[in-house]
Amino acid sequence: MRLKDKVALVTGGARGIGRSIAMLFAKEGADIVIWDVNMQEAEKTCADIEGLGRKAMASQVDVTKYAEVEESLNKILDKFAKVDILVNNAGITKDALLLRMSEADWDAVINVNLKGTFNCTKAASKAMIKQRLGKIVNIASIIGIIGNAGQANYSASKAGIIALTKTSAKELASRNVNVNAIAPGFIQTEMTAKLPPELKEKMLANIPLNKFGSPDDVARACLFLVSSEADYITGQTIIVDGGMVMA
Ligand code: NDP
Repeated sequence: MRLKDKVALVTGGARGIGRSIAMLFAKEGADIVIWDVNMQEAEKTCADIEGLGRKAMASQVDVTKYAEVEESLNKILDKFAKVDILVNNAGITKDALLLRMSEADWDAVINVNLKGTFNCTKAASKAMIKQRLGKIVNIASIIGIIGNAGQANYSASKAGIIALTKTSAKELASRNVNVNAIAPGFIQTEMTAKLPPELKEKMLANIPLNKFGSPDDVARACLFLVSSEADYITGQTIIVDGGMVMA
């Protein structure tokens, strides 16, 4: 029970990696708030969390809209009186080669992935600063470190998240708020299920551990970063990728 009585907010927690993070945190004793645009799946995840004996709350929040984010953060404070943990996990892809990428697809990915992380960090850190306690984890990607053909928008958003992690860590450290990032490699979720089989084969050949990751692999690294075991770690990016990228 490493997170006993903590209150954790997970964006995009309805399914995929966010759902695994929310479930693992609940198993470790945390009450969970999920912000997502997919309310049907979010309600299901909340029911599963309540089945573990923890409190759960799902809100329809589009992380690109600051007014929605701020209003929903106040709802968390009304219900739980605090927010100890924020995981900025909501993310999308809209892939195309640079010359074919539309302005709308560029804006959409930057808005959800990067501006969404900024919006939620800004709102939650206000409360964390007052509490003099908080842990923030941003879900980046190895693509934000090495780049990837066809993902100009996504790679730029994830590189931005890594830089935002370092800046927020520097600004919030004196208030006892730690900010770190996780850069997953290839994780089996609906986001990656749609990739062509030839591409998946090619990627597997580049993974030294010779297997794709699971959402739980990311969730376990996230649990470490929000637990007291990581109290002296801030501004870092942990790569969870089976050894694809070795810095
Ligand atoms: P999924 O698409 O499975 O889940 C993402 C969730 O975020 C969905 O529930 C989605 O809703 C929700 N969401 C989308 N847009 C918004 C928004 N504007 N506001 C709130 N919620 C939103 O993704 P994954 O679990 O695969 O990925 C989670 C994170 O991990 C992302 O940031 C991704 O970039 C990152 N990542 C994933 C990797 C992978 O291999 N899967 C590798 C590296 C990083 P809806 O269902 O309606 O779209």
